[in-house]
Amino acid sequence: MIIDTHCHLYLPEFEKDISEVIKRAENNGILSLYLPAIDSNTHSSMIDLERRFPERCFSMMGLHPCSVKEDYLNELMIVENYLTQKKFYAIGECGLDFYWDKTFIKEQIHALEFQLALSIQYELPLILHTRNATQETIDVIRQHSSPKLKGIFHCFGGSVEEANQIIELGFYLGIGGVVTYKNAGLDKVLEQIDLKHIVLETDSPYLTPVPHRGKRNESSYLKIIAEKIASIKNCSFEEVEKITSENAIMVFEK
Ligand SMILES: [Zn+2]
Repeated sequence: MIIDTHCHLYLPEFEKDISEVIKRAENNGILSLYLPAIDSNTHSSMIDLERRFPERCFSMMGLHPCSVKEDYLNELMIVENYLTQKKFYAIGECGLDFYWDKTFIKEQIHALEFQLALSIQYELPLILHTRNATQETIDVIRQHSSPKLKGIFHCFGGSVEEANQIIELGFYLGIGGVVTYKNAGLDKVLEQIDLKHIVLETDSPYLTPVPHRGKRNESSYLKIIAEKIASIKNCSFEEVEKITSENAIMVFEK
C-alpha cells in the first residue's frame, strides 16, 4: 500500500473521470488519498469527493498562501467554521509563496501563524506549501515550535541544510514528481536524507512525473515517484513503499 499525501482530485480537471482515476490508483496499490484544501471556492467540491469515496479520500482544511488576498480574514473564519463541523485530517495547505506575488507577504505570514495555532488547538498535522520562501517558513515554524506540532513540507525542493532544519522541527519532507525532473537537483539532496523523513505525494493535477510530464497528473503515478526514490536510495520499491507509508500514518493518524 502507498499513500498519496497530497492530491487535489476534486478540481475540475478530474470532473469527467474521477471514478476511473481512483480505480487506477487502487489498482496500483494507492489506497489513501489526502486532499489539501485551497480556499472557499473549492471546499465544498473537496468535501463532496470525500463523501463519494469515504474509504479512499480524506479532506484537510486550510487556506492556500496564493489565495491570501484582501479578504483573507474572512477566508480564515470559513476555515475555522468548517473545523467545528466535521472531522478533517490536517490543517492545510498553508504556508508562504513569494514566487507569484509579493503584495500580501504580511497577510501570508499572519494566515500561516493563524493556521499553525489551529493545528495545535485541533491536534492536527500542518501541511505546508512554500515557494521561494522555504527558509522564511522554517523561521515562522521555529518561532512557534511546540511538541504538539507536526506535519509535512509539501513539494520539498530545498537544500540539504533546509531539509535538516525541517527534520529537526519534527516535520516530514513531501516528495513528488519534481524528483523525476533532470535539472531539479532533488536527487542529490535525497541521497543525503534518510527515508524515515520522507512521505510521497503527487500534487495532482500538477507536477506530473516524467514520462507523463506536460499532461495531467494523477495518483496512480505515485508508483513512478516511489520507483525513482528507490533508485536514488539504492533500495527496493517495497522498502520505499513500507517506510513512506509508515511515515504518512505517523503524520495523519497518530
Ligand atoms: Zn497542493
